[in-house]
Amino acid sequence: MDGAQADVVTRLAPSPTGSQHFGNARTYLISWLMARSVAGRVILRVEDIDAGRTRPGAIDEAVLDLRWLGLDWDEGPIVQSRRLPLYESALARLQAAELVYPCTCTRADIAAAASAPHEQGGEPTYPGTCARRRVADAATLTRPFAWRFRVDHSPAFVDRFVGAVALDLGRFGGDFVVWKSAGEPAYQLAVVVDDAAGGVTDVVRGDDLLPSTPRQLLLYHALGLNPPRFTHVPLVLDAEGRRLAKRQGGHHLSALRTAGVAPEVVIGHLAASCGWIDSPRPMRPADLIPLFSLDTIPRTPWVVHAALAATLS
Ligand code: GLU
Repeated sequence: MDGAQADVVTRLAPSPTGSQHFGNARTYLISWLMARSVAGRVILRVEDIDAGRTRPGAIDEAVLDLRWLGLDWDEGPIVQSRRLPLYESALARLQAAELVYPCTCTRADIAAAASAPHEQGGEPTYPGTCARRRVADAATLTRPFAWRFRVDHSPAFVDRFVGAVALDLGRFGGDFVVWKSAGEPAYQLAVVVDDAAGGVTDVVRGDDLLPSTPRQLLLYHALGLNPPRFTHVPLVLDAEGRRLAKRQGGHHLSALRTAGVAPEVVIGHLAASCGWIDSPRPMRPADLIPLFSLDTIPRTPWVVHAALAATLS
């Protein structure tokens, strides 16, 4: 075993905002195999810092779904809502370096000030209304405020699946929130703190999160942390070509589980969709360890409809 490869650490990072679906399962399987195919380690991390969107019972359900699929982990579940002091100390470091500023803009303020329609369905680019503030100005504010990171450049990176990525953050939101006005860390900050603390070497996630990566690279740099490698994989779409959603649809793993579908059947469809086997047949995740490759995964989104229909028939 190659020493460097044996050190691979990946993570499964469910957000308990709803039921886990086929698309989540495909990403978890790729992430798990990236570690297991080189005897690496897997961390399970529950991303529940968005208290308003977390659904009761969804954490236990996600853990059950993962176990049902046959995925395991060496560490966790690490639960973000129990780690606030870690995120607070990262925020304090950004404040000490004046890399963030207090922002009182509401979503409506930002939408109203945005001069051009935003790209990619993301948030509008922050117009810089509060950017002249200093950290100390926070003490004088009477309205709720978020902490926003000053974007001075857009780091390019080489993704293990996508290749060279150079996104202009000026067109993807601009200065971004690291701490929400509700008093919670934002995803961008929490994910960087946790991936660095866990020694994660490889982040595997859906390519809808590509625009998050340059932001996270800015945070790694600002906090003096080593960034991991990134692998962004295509999304899974339903028969109408829409992204699978956690809140709707019949693609939920829990629904398949309770309908008595064998997890090996689901894994077989995922494996075929990734090009590791020619056609779906029941498989366990461990059976795929010798077959795992990023090179065979199609570059376009996977439309899950036929696979789903077949599992239920
Ligand atoms: N928790 C996110 C999700 O469920 C994944 C975030 C990440 O992998 O960085 O989509």
